[in-house]
Amino acid sequence: MLDKDIHIGVLGGGQLGGMLIRHAEDFGLYIHVLDSNPDATCAKFTSNFVLGDTLNYDDVVNFGKGLDIITIEKEAVNTEALEYLRGQGVKVHPSPEIISVVQDKYQQKEFMKQHEIPVADGILIPNKAELAKHKNRLPACLKMCRDGYDGKGVMILKTEADFEHAFDVPCVLEELVSIRKEIGVIVARNEKGDVQCYDPVEMVFNQELNLLDYQLAPAEISDKHAAQARDLAIKTAKALNLVGIVAVEMFLSTDDEVIVNELAPRPHNSGHHSIEACVTSQYEQLLRAILNMPLGDTTAHKKSVMINILEPAEGRKDILDKTFNAALSTKDAHLHWYGKKNSKEGRKVGHITVNGDSISEAVSKAEEIRKATK
Ligand code: ADP
Repeated sequence: MLDKDIHIGVLGGGQLGGMLIRHAEDFGLYIHVLDSNPDATCAKFTSNFVLGDTLNYDDVVNFGKGLDIITIEKEAVNTEALEYLRGQGVKVHPSPEIISVVQDKYQQKEFMKQHEIPVADGILIPNKAELAKHKNRLPACLKMCRDGYDGKGVMILKTEADFEHAFDVPCVLEELVSIRKEIGVIVARNEKGDVQCYDPVEMVFNQELNLLDYQLAPAEISDKHAAQARDLAIKTAKALNLVGIVAVEMFLSTDDEVIVNELAPRPHNSGHHSIEACVTSQYEQLLRAILNMPLGDTTAHKKSVMINILEPAEGRKDILDKTFNAALSTKDAHLHWYGKKNSKEGRKVGHITVNGDSISEAVSKAEEIRKATK
């Protein structure tokens, strides 16, 4: 198949798309990208960059006509347009059905329940006024069904007094999980049904910014929990009838249960480390999956820590130079600078993967880099 010209369309032109383009070059693929931001990361990496809204039916149809395969790097895309394109012979991976399910947190939950994948118990709340009927569920976690990202559509409701500030859009009211660890597992599946799964990674959050602080690969959890997490991720990919990759975010509860929180059927932050720490990166794996080629080995040949680089405050831009210097002076640390323009303070603008022979070695090198940036 690779001996022909293959044109792949990517909906979304952020850093995940940028890293996908880099890996697509190794397979001689043409990558086309649709994004409404002319300054999107991908704009400078492909001459097939098309300005347009990934949620707009006509923009997606016009973009997709004549392409061989379409994939996504974000979920906010027009699935009707993708269904139309599929009818015209364009392969769409992941399928529009999968994308529709994950676009809505309530549908995701229902889907997982149907397939006996453990999730936190939750109900649909059509609007803020309805919350009053569910006082008995407090404390609870309220999540906007649609359009939440980086924790922006999630709030904890402790008492009735919190209802006043609640989102007034359709939400899921979810049982509060007593979380010991947040973990993620990426799994790939091709059309033939071959499956390859990465080891679980562990996300550690910065409470203040509600952003990922660092990520450990592999997660520091027991072999039993790691096996459970992998099994759940594989079960999820099969239930979705996935072609592509899916990041399955999970909680390990203080009661020792592994529960699925949410799904992202695309390259994901929790696979950043796979570029330098695993035999096959998640980006190459996605390309192999959607091309129906043999999937790659997911073995991690190094332990790793991933740290995000956040846009500093005005007047503290010197931090960036210090970060680059510290990262590039550290053995087996790998800088990824997304080249974003006009980012707001606290937004992710890059990341560094720091490899080591042990997690503690990788953590201490990562901490050294961070010290240099204060
Ligand atoms: P987003 O899609 O914005 O990333 P998530 O569903 O991942 O939203 O939730 C963001 C964070 O909120 C999670 O990483 C977790 O820390 C917390 N959270 C989500 N659901 C629950 C829950 N049921 N109980 C406790 N904390 C939760």
